[in-house]
Amino acid sequence: MGIVAALAQEGSALVAASRNAEPQAGELGPTGRPLSGFPDPEPLVVHGPARTVAVCNQKGGVGKTTTTINLGAALAERGRRVLLVDFDPQGALSVGLGIQPHDIDNTVYNLLMERDVSAHDVLHKTCVDGMDLMPSNIDLSGAEVQLVHEVGREYVLGGVLKPLVPEYDVIMIDCQPSLGLLTINALAAADGVLIPLECEYFAMRGVALLMETIDKVSRRLNTKLAIDGLLATMYDSRTLHTREVLASMVNGFGDQVFHTVINRTVRFPDATVAGEPITSFDSGSMGANAYRELAKEVLERWRQAGVGHGG
Ligand code: ADP
Ligand code: MG
Repeated sequence: MGIVAALAQEGSALVAASRNAEPQAGELGPTGRPLSGFPDPEPLVVHGPARTVAVCNQKGGVGKTTTTINLGAALAERGRRVLLVDFDPQGALSVGLGIQPHDIDNTVYNLLMERDVSAHDVLHKTCVDGMDLMPSNIDLSGAEVQLVHEVGREYVLGGVLKPLVPEYDVIMIDCQPSLGLLTINALAAADGVLIPLECEYFAMRGVALLMETIDKVSRRLNTKLAIDGLLATMYDSRTLHTREVLASMVNGFGDQVFHTVINRTVRFPDATVAGEPITSFDSGSMGANAYRELAKEVLERWRQAGVGHGG
């Protein structure tokens, strides 16, 4: 290929990646597949029961918390009632929504361990209309050890969330970076798993173990569990290696990889520091629009699968 043609191809890849808000029919997206554009979801007239989604990857720093906050906010913008469950003792989801979890009396830990705490005691409103949070803090790290001795230890989270299922359209559980008992509880409580994968070398390392764990949970504990999708995060179309990593994801997982790709941008850490989703912190940004597009894609997948609140 001549240098001009190569540059032109590079340029069109950049344009496609930067325009994931409004794809043109027939254009190839960053995942190398034609972009179709996702329909605007119908507004809901009735709410609930919720689809519960575990946002899961045992690797840290891949965008689980960022995806939980921003996909949640984008779904709420579409009129969905959203509950975000912070299920990481680090409490990053809570902090990212401007709630300092160390001064909170009732967290997910209390809900799991104390019979007289009800799910409603642990709910907090967020700055996003229609989106609530169940915060966690370092106390939750004790739950893992304590739960080991419980009967039905894998089902404790699912049990305590049950009363809230009729009240929401989507419940998203932000998992900690491990495949320990807390994450198993999230997978046992969930209808679907969403897996963020960072577009970096070694992104695929550990994915086989994650898939094996999901498979075991779906065979032994929770037969309804499905993989809702793999999300490529921190994509940078200017670097060859992130394009290669994305290509290998699509090669390995095909249509399970969302067409929507999240670019690497400093606006995400900036939004975290501000304690807001990017959809309100920098509403017109590429990052905000990428999560809005992901919300449409997720709702369309659920609609096509006949589950959840895609309608
Ligand atoms: P995890 O929950 O998987 O550990 P986070 O969502 O907390 O990952 O992200 C890790 C760090 O990377 C955070 O500082 C976050 O702000 C930042 N980050 C997340 N997504 C992006 C992105 N698309 N571009 C740039 N930085 C990002
Ligand atoms: Mg996190």
